[in-house]
Amino acid sequence: MSFLLPKKNVGEKLRLGIMGGTFDPIHMGHLVTAEEACQQFNLDHVVFMPSGEPPHKDKRNVTDAEHRYLMTMLAVVANPKFTISRLEIESKHPSYTVDTVRRFHEIYGESLTLYFITGADAIIDIMTWKDYRELLELCSFIATSRPGYSLHKLREVFGDSFEVIMRHVHLLEVPAMAISSTEIRRRVAAGKTIRYLTPDPVEQYIHKNRLYIPRSLD
Ligand code: NAP
Repeated sequence: MSFLLPKKNVGEKLRLGIMGGTFDPIHMGHLVTAEEACQQFNLDHVVFMPSGEPPHKDKRNVTDAEHRYLMTMLAVVANPKFTISRLEIESKHPSYTVDTVRRFHEIYGESLTLYFITGADAIIDIMTWKDYRELLELCSFIATSRPGYSLHKLREVFGDSFEVIMRHVHLLEVPAMAISSTEIRRRVAAGKTIRYLTPDPVEQYIHKNRLYIPRSLD
């Protein structure tokens, strides 16, 4: 994996968060979420993991992985606790979370405590994810939501498995997640400003590469 992480003393566990998402594009909500998770769960590092080929999405609707990787890199570079991985974008296969998490365990072995951070609206579908039972044993989940997210929704979808699944899932409310990638794409397409919704270099990258502009106007 193409990043350096701090060495821990013998017997001390490395506490890592993997921030998984499509990041199309990354925005302030993602950064605030990662910072909050880092503090609340006492993480040594958060590794941003842009999906290569999201397993549940039509790839024609997702921006090229290199663009999403570069925007994420621009957004995280200034934070010494944040890093980024090319593991999923370089994979020839769909980005199954269980494969990513297994890879981290192969590399760090027993000395790793792993959290997977992503949106509660993604985790709600976890029972459809590849090998989800094993996945829940391999890491804890930090499910982030806008304020007021109701556990009711998860209870309904998880049914009888609710208690078991929620032993491995922590809910984290993040007001800044009112920002969404979908809204940013819509605003760019409509010619509206996205300043302060995403870091300046990401905004500049989007405009320079004419991302999110409808084909008819390009
Ligand atoms: P998504 O369906 O595009 O997003 C669902 C919601 O979660 C959106 O509101 C999204 O907001 C938010 N979100 C996504 N990533 C987030 C993050 N890291 N922190 C906070 N909020 C986040 O989800 P996705 O990005 O495609 O997938 C999320 C992760 O789950 C990825 O790592 C993906 O590989 C994994 N996943 C795995 C499987 C599997 O293994 N079978 C299946 C599905 C998803 P924004 O749109 O603003 O980001």
